[in-house]
Amino acid sequence: MELNENCGIFGIWGDREAPTIVFLGLYSLQHRGQESAGIVATDGEHFFTQKGIGLVFEAIDQQKLTSIKGRAAIGHVRYSTTGKTLYRNIQPLVVEGSKGLLAVAHNGNLVNSISLRNSLVQEGAIFQSTTDTEIILHLLAREKKNLIDALRVSLSKLKGAYSFVFLTPSAMIVSRDPYGFRPLVLGRRRNGAYVASSETVPFSLLDVEFLREVEPGETLIINDGGIHQAFKIPSKRKAFCIFEFIYFARPDSFMFGNNVYEVRKCFGERLAEEAPVKADYVIPVPDSGLWAAIGYSQKSGIPMEFGLIRNHYVGRTFIQPTSSERAFSVRLKLNPVPEVLSGKKIVLIDDSIVRGTTSRKIISVLRKAGAEEVHLRISSPPVKWPCFYGIDTPTRAELIAAQKSVEQIRNYLQVDSLHYLSKDGMLSCVTNPQNFCTACFTGDYPEPLYDAEFAKMRIKEREEK
Ligand code: AMP
Repeated sequence: MELNENCGIFGIWGDREAPTIVFLGLYSLQHRGQESAGIVATDGEHFFTQKGIGLVFEAIDQQKLTSIKGRAAIGHVRYSTTGKTLYRNIQPLVVEGSKGLLAVAHNGNLVNSISLRNSLVQEGAIFQSTTDTEIILHLLAREKKNLIDALRVSLSKLKGAYSFVFLTPSAMIVSRDPYGFRPLVLGRRRNGAYVASSETVPFSLLDVEFLREVEPGETLIINDGGIHQAFKIPSKRKAFCIFEFIYFARPDSFMFGNNVYEVRKCFGERLAEEAPVKADYVIPVPDSGLWAAIGYSQKSGIPMEFGLIRNHYVGRTFIQPTSSERAFSVRLKLNPVPEVLSGKKIVLIDDSIVRGTTSRKIISVLRKAGAEEVHLRISSPPVKWPCFYGIDTPTRAELIAAQKSVEQIRNYLQVDSLHYLSKDGMLSCVTNPQNFCTACFTGDYPEPLYDAEFAKMRIKEREEK
């Protein structure tokens, strides 16, 4: 069973170039998943699928794509860290069942997937993949209702995080869980085609006007007649993922009522207020610390300089399986500029510390390059709890802040001072802070972790790595 995924989803209805538009949309959402990509298009009768492992341009054969006819298409980029990428797990998943042809792309993680899957298997279901996304297809197939009524019943059985985009030959359907853990936005192209996307990033590229966010609990039908709400599952509370702002989303995205750039910059301003320090330069860890560093620099009046240069051809260091590989990748990815750093007191800004491996390595690199004092400022509170709603984070055993105090971490990282942004400081930067999930900092999980074995399995899987 795949347990840790965060992904990007994109769909379009009513565009002669639908498959190509989805390709470009996925390209813009590449930061949400680098492991595999897939596109499913329909001409109103048949489905055409292109899938593969790797980055969007590697996974999708663009020549074949241009030959696909289709006025509608959906796509998915996938990011999981279990190491194995099974071809059959690549989304969108496609089935032909009691509801005809149906494709689905999912962003999020269900927290009752084990019990749902077990009971479906007991009833005779044969699963093709190991992703929790397939569960919704089995639930739908079993309902003797039309697709929308079947969706209403089936979605109400899912617990946890989901933003879905479904495709049938006659409509595109989007659904977001009642907590709204993961983002999902709607737009319209100049030619009238409707777009659904994890983030707004592809909108300017594709000439898409932003319409609105899909509301938590909402299911919408999108076809030639426009966008219609099919139903809405009531929300007990909202729980938008704050980590999207801290790290995951692109800064040029608008989500959960905020622009990501502005929120990140505000985190940096708050950090400067909470933990001022006398220094020569503010130095960002590129790219994740850039926007908070701008905020810190402007608020404190300390000039920002690039003391670390990033090699853009190295992927995310986080996803290397072993700690030593990760440490090596850090060196490959970030190179110091001794001419900037030598003899200087610096405030180093990064977005988060998860295991601590990256920061430790960066700090030793800065010291070797001659930095005299290193004051580390982190634009999020200490990450102490794993996420079960779609952001990949390790178990408590690997989370440095779950194991050590701030002073112990300071000592481990060999910095002169360390300050994490307070939870209140962080929440002061977003509109409607009560609507956010902060479980990775507090352990206060908005949706109970229904499958106790789920949590156990995840821990075991991580420990075996
Ligand atoms: P480390 O402390 O060595 O585990 O690495 C932390 C760094 O990885 C942070 O500074 C982020 O830039 C990045 N990061 C944080 N969370 C994630 C995540 N869920 N997936 C990928 N990278 C992440």
